[in-house]
Amino acid sequence: TTEHLARSEKMNVAGQLAAGIAHEIRNPLTSLKGFLQLMEAGVDVDGQYFKIMKEEIEKMESITSELLYISKPQPHHRKTVSLQSLLNDVCTLMRSQAKLYDIDIHLTTESDQILLECDPSQIKQVVINLIKNAIEVMEEGGVIQVRGFQAESNLIIEVQDEGPGVPEQILDKIHEPFFTTKENGTGLGLMITNQIIKEHHGDLEISNAPEKGTIIHVTLPNHSR
Ligand code: ADP
Ligand code: MG
Repeated sequence: TTEHLARSEKMNVAGQLAAGIAHEIRNPLTSLKGFLQLMEAGVDVDGQYFKIMKEEIEKMESITSELLYISKPQPHHRKTVSLQSLLNDVCTLMRSQAKLYDIDIHLTTESDQILLECDPSQIKQVVINLIKNAIEVMEEGGVIQVRGFQAESNLIIEVQDEGPGVPEQILDKIHEPFFTTKENGTGLGLMITNQIIKEHHGDLEISNAPEKGTIIHVTLPNHSR
């Protein structure tokens, strides 16, 4: 039955997540154990080993903190906020980090009259995740465009980068937990982003920008209409 199917699909997601976590944590643990055994055996470990060990620990740290975010029962703090000021806060926060990579963040909003009913810290998290991804693919610097506007009965947030775009063949994989093409990625950002947007009854679409780069298009219901 459909209900049965839906349930087994849900189990699959949990199982998939659990397998992913086990895998992602086991690899750094194995390498840490190896280094400890070397030290125990009296091998002269140099600074390079410590650097790798620290990186492995940091990797597990970022995985566990992102997982905590998922598993926490999220109390909703719904508020009505100005879309413009929310986006302004996030862009201000991210600009200093972007500067380090020679990236500017341009914000365009129609007016300060557009109101968004949401959990502001969660929607901020969404935009932060999208801007982070944009920064991470723009190796040559450039401009990230953030737009906030109203379209019919929806509110739209767009984040456009000048990176290489998402290759067609991985487009349906990038939402999966732990799917990453980055050396130090967790592959959890888009999954969390999607989850927050779903909780807000919204939608996320990814498309290629006309010249180069990616446009992430977030649609949220407009409660003020
Ligand atoms: P992470 O950033 O840790 O890799 P995400 O879930 O945020 O995890 O993203 C998953 C993958 O989706 C990335 O590794 C990358 O391959 C792809 N991706 C996400 N955003 C972009 C983007 N703006 N441009 C190109 N690829 C992207
Ligand atoms: Mg990410």
